[in-house]
Amino acid sequence: SESGAVALDALERALGALQDAEHELGRLDAAAGDGDHGAGMVRGMGAAVEAARGGGGSAGQVLARAGMAFSGAAGGASGALYGAWISAIGQSLGDGEKPDASAVHRALDSSLASLRDIGKAKPGDKTMIDALDPFVRSFGEAVGGGALLDDAWRQALPAAEKGADSTADMISTRGRASKLGERSRGHKDPGAVSMLYVLRAAGDALP
Ligand code: ADP
Ligand code: MG
Ligand code: MG
Repeated sequence: SESGAVALDALERALGALQDAEHELGRLDAAAGDGDHGAGMVRGMGAAVEAARGGGGSAGQVLARAGMAFSGAAGGASGALYGAWISAIGQSLGDGEKPDASAVHRALDSSLASLRDIGKAKPGDKTMIDALDPFVRSFGEAVGGGALLDDAWRQALPAAEKGADSTADMISTRGRASKLGERSRGHKDPGAVSMLYVLRAAGDALP
């Protein structure tokens, strides 16, 4: 369907962006973790794209399928979390043929809640949440102000960028990097940076 094709395009663009950033994300993860974040994201998104291509359906159905494939392929803390997040967006969108800005906002809001529920991270813990949470808040404000889907998405991207940048000054309290304590400060969180790239790429696919 039309919305399914948009979802596939968003995932393909996200894969391209992650391939371009694979080494950067690996270096960021090597500073405080085990260095595999770039490789894991490329593997996960590659499997997500493959699953999205086979089968068609609405955007919701495509994303629900893609998220499951992501989790299975990516591995690591971020694999399970990203996969669950993508699937939760899909489940919220359901079989709606043409999700509008409010439907997408509901999906972003509920999938962020599931992500926080599963990972137990809150804003300020130096994770992907620090890019996603301000993005969803800013997107909601734009939609509340009457912006259409693609405009609201574009308007919210600076909040995600600011959020990802802000993780450089944070101390990690979740995941592998939390073992470093104070020494985790000084580098951006790899998951927050990959989240920014995924959100940016997905925005380019929106009609
Ligand atoms: P691993 O640490 O298992 O090697 P990755 O390197 O792929 O996994 O991912 C690390 C990223 O996962 C971190 O940068 C952080 O953004 C994210 N992360 C880790 N734990 C959590 C959590 N509990 N909640 C949200 N995000 C998390
Ligand atoms: Mg890692
Ligand atoms: Mg790992």
